Amino acid sequence: MAFTCPHCEQVSYTRTSRYLSNLTQEEYFQCSNLTCGHTFTTYRYVRETLCPPALPKAGVSIPMATKQRLSELQHELRRKKLENQLELPGLTA
Ligand SMILES: [Zn+2]
Repeated sequence: MAFTCPHCEQVSYTRTSRYLSNLTQEEYFQCSNLTCGHTFTTYRYVRETLCPPALPKAGVSIPMATKQRLSELQHELRRKKLENQLELPGLTA
């Protein structure tokens, strides 16, 4: 994984990680900018379900996204897809 260094805004890469639970992972990052050298940790977690799994596991409870949230995500994805199409060579004005 990559993450932007909060200090110099260059890319930082995961050096190692560990699971704290089946829904949460702690990651250790190191900035790739040699003159910065910042090392830091982040948490990554399963936040919400967008589409229920075909093989649900007993005991795993992840909140379901609301219809409004799904609608917002669809709108955002369509907007990004349109932006990407506009960035393709030959398609810009
Ligand atoms: Zn940095």
